[in-house]
Formats: sequence, C-alpha cells, structure tokens
Amino acid sequence: METARVSRRGGDRWAQGHPWIYRSDVTRPPAGPAGAVRVVAEGGAFLGIALWSPASTISLRLLTREEREIDFGFWRERVDAAARFRESLAPDATAYRLMHGEADGAPSLVVDRYGEHLVVQLLSAGLEAFRGEIVSALQERFQPAGMLARNDVPVRSHEQLDRSVELLAGSVPEELEVREGRVRYRVAPWTGQKTGAFLDQRENRGRAGELSRGRALDCFSYHGSFALHLATGAAEVVAVDSSAPALARASENAALNGFEHVRAVEANVFDFLRAQESAGERYDIVVLDPPAFSKRRDALPQALRAYKEVNLRALRLLTPGGHLCTFSCSFHVDTASFREMLRSAAVDSGRPVRWIEARGQSADHPELLQIPESGYLKGAVLQAMP
Ligand code: SAH
Repeated sequence: METARVSRRGGDRWAQGHPWIYRSDVTRPPAGPAGAVRVVAEGGAFLGIALWSPASTISLRLLTREEREIDFGFWRERVDAAARFRESLAPDATAYRLMHGEADGAPSLVVDRYGEHLVVQLLSAGLEAFRGEIVSALQERFQPAGMLARNDVPVRSHEQLDRSVELLAGSVPEELEVREGRVRYRVAPWTGQKTGAFLDQRENRGRAGELSRGRALDCFSYHGSFALHLATGAAEVVAVDSSAPALARASENAALNGFEHVRAVEANVFDFLRAQESAGERYDIVVLDPPAFSKRRDALPQALRAYKEVNLRALRLLTPGGHLCTFSCSFHVDTASFREMLRSAAVDSGRPVRWIEARGQSADHPELLQIPESGYLKGAVLQAMP
C-alpha cells in the first residue's frame, strides 16, 4: 500500500473526528493511482488508512484507524454493519437507504434499497477502485434481483470519473413499485432524481400523513410522495410541481393507491401560492419541500429570501389550527438560519404560529455529528394558532 504524508492540520482534522483531509494538507501525496493508502503524520506516525482521490480537493477519506488490508473482507464488514443498523431501525417500508457514506464508515458510498433491487452511487475515485469488492459484498449480503449504479452525478466530475448509469448485476426495470407505510408508489430508478426517490423524507412523509385532514396541499411534490400520505387523511389533496413527467407519475401513483381525491397541478409554486392567496383558498395542511435553493454558500442570502417567500405565503393559506410541514435540504442553511427564516416568515404572515416540532432526515440517513454538513435536511412542523 502506498503512503500519504499529511500536515499537522490534516492530522488534527482526523483527531477531531472529521474523516476528510484536503489536498492542501497532503504534504507528500502517494505515488500510485486512486485507491486505499496508509496515512502518516510528518514525523512518520501511522494515522490510518484512507481512500485516496488524486484529482479531488478532498484528497483523503478515512476508512479505518487500524493498520489492515482493504479487501473484500473489509467491505463485507462495512456492508454487514450497515445492514444490521437498518434492521435495528426496522423501517416500515420496502425502500430505504442501506448505506449512507461516512455515517456508515463507507465514505462516498450510497446504497439505496428498492425492494428486491439496489441502486448504488460510487462518488469518489478512491471508492471507485473498490467497485468489484463492494458489488460482490452487496450481492453476497442482499442477493438483489438487480443492481444499478446511478453514477450520473456532477460530483464524479470533480473526481475525474465518468458520469453514467450502469447496470451492475441482474436486471432493473424502468419502474419499480415500493411500499412506504400506508402507501405504495412507483419510482424510476434509471432516470428519476437521486437514486429514483427522495428517501430521506420517508419519516417526514409518514408524519405529514398522521397530521393530514380536510384540504391538503403538497408543494414541490415530485412524483407525489407527500401527496399520497396526505391522501390517507385528507378529503382533497393538491400536488404542485413544475415537472410534467414527475406529475404524470404522481397521478399514476395516486391511481395505484386508489386515491381519486389527489389532483396534480403543473405550476411554479411561487406563482401558485400567490394566486391561491388572492383567490382566498385555505388548506388544513401544507407541505413545502423545495429543491436546494442554495447550492453554494455565496447564494445563501438569496436562497433564504426564496425560502421565506414560500413559507410566508404557505402560512397565509392555513386554516386556523392548520399545519405547515416545511423543509430545507440546502446544507448551507443551518438549523439556526432555518429557524430564523421561519420566524421572519411568521412575523410577515401576520399570524401567531406555533412551533410544533423539529424534523430532520430519516434515521436510515444518519448524520455524523463530527461532519456538520451531513445534517443537511432541516424541517419543522408549524401550526397556525387556532
Ligand atoms: N417532495 C418530494 C421531493 C421534492 S424535490 C418527495 O418527497 O419525493 C423538488 C421538486 O421541486 C422537484 O420535483 C422539482 O421539479 C420541483 N420544483 C423545483 N422548483 C420548482 C418551482 N419553482 N415550482 C414548482 N416545482 C418546482
């Protein structure tokens, strides 16, 4: 195994529990290609074994502090540990995340389960070097009917890796049907967003279903996943999104569950909410699950204005006692700024608003406390004072 030497600052990051070392802290890079390397301090002391990505600014991702081989056995242990953790969570669904990168000791690896099928993402060059071992370990543990790689993500370009969607094993159909709590839905693993669905919102969708009644509104609905849960309690559900193909699946998904009271509306949510307010429409529950308005830190003030705008408008649409389930998936929007944005929206809505509870990503997408960026999904349930 090649060796990388890192500066004191690099070593300190690991000492603080953060598993990444940046390029500027690698004082002597390994000579070899991407893969696993030994990492030593300036004085030569062994610090750990890491994935090495020659082209990335995140050069080293900690795998283990033990001096050991990174082979099939290593990956099988990581897969087993991740599987045991998911078993302990006993998700009431057939689709959920099996491996969530650093929080499963498998940096830059994502594995999502859709029933009998797996969809994986290999997000660094160091990890890509172990594709064979990882695929074998997943096959041995889960014996999936098929396995797909959704490696068509921009981060792979930073690693100088190709971007493609590739069948890794067995067969994977165009659409897969999964169950989530009380509803069923179809996902498009080859072409859908992320690995086909936003699995990080699973528990929040269940919660929205519990709160649902009367008239319900799902904004940024994608393939209707919140709308379906809302439909379990509401008499009428409106699902709004700007993507026609996503809404077509939302309608199919509603039909799959025998829901005739879900209406899909193709619109820009900002315009839609304004028009609903002018028309005097009211809802007993509103869900706001926008895309990341801020993908970059310098766009944060603008993003917060956009979040505030939709939240303010949504609050105005609530009936007395009505609930707003609201989210932000931008990791630049931290918990404090999310809460402050909501406070400011509540003030401008002119209504007293209760903070019912904080929400976050589902337990199968654990946050690693030492990586603040890994807690990217913020959420809250608010209630307009009755
Ligand atoms: N709530 C969904 C995920 C939402 S993803 C779920 O749980 O599955 C964000 C969605 O917002 C995407 O489907 C995208 O098409 C849509 N979108 C982005 N900007 C929009 C806008 N201005 N108006 C309406 N929809 C928008």
